[in-house]
Amino acid sequence: MTSIRSAEQRDALIDALARRRFDGLEAILPEITNTARDLLSVDRVSIWLFSDDRRLLHRIEVCPECDHYPRSRPLTLDVTLRPDYTEQLLRDSVYRLSDRREMSPRAGDDLSRYLEQRGILSLLDSAIVIDDRVSGVLCHEHGTTRLWSPECRDIALRLADITADAIVFERRRRSAALGYQFRLLVEASADSIGMANAQGVIEYLNPTARRVLGLTGDEPVHGMKIEEFLAPNDRERMRASIIPAARETGSWTGRIRMLTRQARVFEATTTINVYRGRDGAVEYVGCVIRDLSFQIDAERRIAEVRANYEAALVKSGDTLFQIDTRTLQISNADEHFRDLLGYEAERYEHLTLLDISAETADEVRARVDQTLAEGHLLCGERRLRDVYGETVEVEMSMVRIGGYAGPAISVRLRDIRELAQRRRYVEQLAYFDPLTGLANSNFLRERAETMLAERLAMGGRVGFILLQIERWQRIFDIQGYQVAETLIRQAGFRIKDAFAGHDVTLARVLGGVEFGVLFDADAEADDELVRIAHTTFRDLFRAEEENIQLSICSGSAEAPQHAVNFKDLTKRAGIALRTAHARNMDHCYYDPAQSSRIRDERLIEEDLREAIGTSQLTLRYQPILADSTSECIWGMETLVRWQHPQFGFLPPSDFIPLAEETQLIVTLDRHILAAAARTAAAWTGPLAHAVLTVNVSGVTLMTADICRLLDDVLADSGLDPTRLCLEVTETSIMTDLAQAARSLARAHNLGVMIALDDFGTGYSSLAYLKDLPVDILKIDRDFVRGIGMDRRDERAIQTVVQMGHDLGIRVLAEGVETAPQRAWLWSQQVDLIQGFHIARPMTAEVACEGGLHTRFRC
Ligand code: C2E
Ligand code: CA
Repeated sequence: MTSIRSAEQRDALIDALARRRFDGLEAILPEITNTARDLLSVDRVSIWLFSDDRRLLHRIEVCPECDHYPRSRPLTLDVTLRPDYTEQLLRDSVYRLSDRREMSPRAGDDLSRYLEQRGILSLLDSAIVIDDRVSGVLCHEHGTTRLWSPECRDIALRLADITADAIVFERRRRSAALGYQFRLLVEASADSIGMANAQGVIEYLNPTARRVLGLTGDEPVHGMKIEEFLAPNDRERMRASIIPAARETGSWTGRIRMLTRQARVFEATTTINVYRGRDGAVEYVGCVIRDLSFQIDAERRIAEVRANYEAALVKSGDTLFQIDTRTLQISNADEHFRDLLGYEAERYEHLTLLDISAETADEVRARVDQTLAEGHLLCGERRLRDVYGETVEVEMSMVRIGGYAGPAISVRLRDIRELAQRRRYVEQLAYFDPLTGLANSNFLRERAETMLAERLAMGGRVGFILLQIERWQRIFDIQGYQVAETLIRQAGFRIKDAFAGHDVTLARVLGGVEFGVLFDADAEADDELVRIAHTTFRDLFRAEEENIQLSICSGSAEAPQHAVNFKDLTKRAGIALRTAHARNMDHCYYDPAQSSRIRDERLIEEDLREAIGTSQLTLRYQPILADSTSECIWGMETLVRWQHPQFGFLPPSDFIPLAEETQLIVTLDRHILAAAARTAAAWTGPLAHAVLTVNVSGVTLMTADICRLLDDVLADSGLDPTRLCLEVTETSIMTDLAQAARSLARAHNLGVMIALDDFGTGYSSLAYLKDLPVDILKIDRDFVRGIGMDRRDERAIQTVVQMGHDLGIRVLAEGVETAPQRAWLWSQQVDLIQGFHIARPMTAEVACEGGLHTRFRC
C-alpha cells in the first residue's frame, strides 16, 4: 500500500528532498520521516543510527503521539543486533517483515520482543549506508499485517540514501569547521608542529617550527626532508629505530638533537605520529617538537648553583634535606645525612623528621608550623637520634620553600658534636672535679643559688650536707700523694653510686677531702641521706694493694631555717661538721649555738698555713704608757692582723685558738716574734728604748724549745733581750705549770721579761705566782671596764696592784678606753696602762712617723 499520489508526484517530492539534504541534519531528518510516512502510509517512521559496536543507537523518531518532533535520544540496547539482521541489510539494503510470525525461531530475541512490545506486525527497514557500512536504518513500522511492494522498498531505499547523503554532508561540514579551528590551534601553538609525507618530505611547518628551525620569512619548506633538521648523529637513529618504532605503535616520543638552518644543534622532546590511509599504508607523519634549550639551560644553571651550594655545604660539613610539611617525610637528603645519622640512602625516603628527632612530636610540629608561618626559623642547638639511637647534637635551621607539590621545608643541620664535646670538656673543667667526675664548688654554688631562689620563693626548704674524710692529713703523710688521690677517686665514685636513686647534687668541694650533698629538703629526708653517706664508707678502700679504712664525719644545715644564701648554708653545715668532729660524733645537725665559737675553722686553718709569711698577715703595735706623771711610752704590744682573701679582716680571736688546736700556733708565734723583733730593733728616736711585748701561746711555750727560739730571734734581729717581753696567758700556763715555769725561767734567764696576760680571768689563786718569773701582770680589760661602775672590779684591781707590788711585779691595766679610767688607774698606782684611749694598735710605720713623741714622752 502506497499513498494515493502519482509516481511523478512521488518522484518530485523525493527529488526535492534530495536537494534539501544540504539544509542540515536537524532540518532534513524530520522531513525524511514525514515524507516516508506520507508516501508509504505507515504508522510510524523513525531513524536509527548505530554506534560502531552496534550497542548504542541514536534514534530519531517521528510519530503522531510525540510532543517533540523530532525526538532524538540515545538508546542503549542490552544485546547486539542480530548478525543476520545487518547481513541482510547489507545484502538487500532492506529488511522487511510482512508479519511478525515470519521471523525465524532464532529470532525469538530482542527484535521480536521489541516488536511484540510495541504491537508492530509489519516492518520495513532500509539501510543507511555510509562508506560501505550500514550506519543506520530508516525504519517503517506498521500495526497491521501488510505486504511491502517493490515500489515501497524503492521509496524506502531512496529516502535512506538521502538520509545517508545528509549525514555525510553534515560530517564534512563539521570536520571542515573543526579542521579550520585545529589549524588555528596549530598555528598558534608554542610547540613546533610539522607534517611530512610517507617519504619524510615536509609538507607543513607551523610558525613556531619555522622560527625554531631557523627558516626565514616565507621560505618554502616543500621538498625539504625531516632528516635535514636532525643533528648528524641522530639521522641514523631516526632511520634505524625511531621511525620503525613509530610505524609499529603509531607514535614515538623521546629526545632528539635537532639542527637549525644556521647549524645550531639543540635538544628537543619530539613526538612523531604516523597516520595511515584506508589501505593501511602510511600517508603522512606528524611531528611535535619542544625545544628544550631553555629548559636545559635552566637545568644546567640550577645544577651549577646546586653543585656550588653543595660544594659549599661539603666544605662547611652541613647537611641539607627537605621535609613534607604535612607528613614530615624526609626527601632529597644529601650524602652528609648518612655520615651524620648513619642511615643508608635507600632508607632516607621512609624517614620522617620525627624518626630522627630526640624531641616530642608536639615540639617538632610546633617548629614546622612556626617555619611555615614565618618563612624561616633558627632552631638553635637540637638533639637528634642516629640510626643506632645515639644522640647527635646539631645546629638546626629551617626555611620554607615552594616545593613541587606545594610548600615544603628545607632543613639545614650543622654537626656540632665536636664543638659540643669541646664545650662539655670546658664545662667539665669549669664545673666538675676531674678526679672524681663529681661537680665542683662552682657548679654546686650555681646550682644551689638557683635552687634556693626557686625553692625558698615557693616556701620550700633546701638542705646541705657536708662530708669530710677524717684524719686525712695523716693518711696523706703516711700513704703519699698517689694513694691519697686513688682514695679520693674511689670515695667520689662510691658516693655517686650510693646516691644514684636520689635527686641530689653531689660535689667535691674545696678541692679537698670534703663532699657536698645539696638537696630539696621537702623531697629528701636528710637523716636518710646521712645514713647513705656513712654506709658508703663502711667498706674498706683499696689502694696500692692495701686495704685502707676511711671514716667520715658530717654536718648539715638547712635553708631557710639556718641560712638563706649559699655562703651561709655551707658555712653553717661546716660548723655542724666541726662540732661533730669535736664531739667525736658521726654527724651533727646545725644548731646556731655552734656558730658562736668559730667561723669556719677548718677552712681558716688551711688558709692560715698558707698566709704565714705572706702580706695577708701584718703586725700592729699598741703603745703602753708608764709613769702617771710623765706618761712616757714604756713599750709596744705586738698584735697580729689577718686580711683573709675571702672573708676579709679576721680578728685574732677567730684564728689564734684554732691555730693553737693544730700546733700551727708554734709556726705563727715564731714568725711574729721574729718579724716584730726585727721591727723593734730598728726603732729609733722615742721608740729606741721601748719594750716590745709579744703574745706567745701556751702551746708554743710548752712544745717549742723556747730558749733556742729566743736565741734565734734575738740573734737574727739584734734586739736587746731586755727590750723584749713575752705575754703569756694565765690559762695557758696552768695546763702544765711545771713545764711552763721551766720554759719561762729559761726565757727570763736570757734577760727577756715575762708578762702574765688576761690576769684575773682564770685562776684566782695567786699562789703559783711566786714560783714563776713574772715581771708584769696585765689586768684584763673586763675589770677596767667596771671602773666607776662596779666597785668589785675596782677592788679587784686594787688587790692585784697591791699583791703585785708586794711580789715586786709591775701591774699593767689594758683596755683603757676613757679618761676617767685612765685617771683612776694612775691614782691606784698602776704602773703601766694600755688601751684605745691612749692609742689604737698601729702599723710600725705609723708608730715611727706618727709623732708618738709629740703626744707622749719617752
Ligand atoms: P690580748 O693579749 O689581751 O690583746 C689585747 C687585745 O685588746 C687586742 O685585741 C687589742 O686590740 C685589744 N685592745 C687594746 N686596747 C683596747 C681597748 O681599749 N678596748 C678594747 N675593747 N680592746 C682593746 P686583738 O688584737 O683582737 O687580740 C686579741 C687577742 O689575740 C689578744 O688578746 C691575744 O691573746 C691574741 N693575740 C693578738 N696578737 C697575737 C699574736 O701575735 N700572737 C698570739 N699568740 N696571740 C695574739
Ligand atoms: Ca696581750
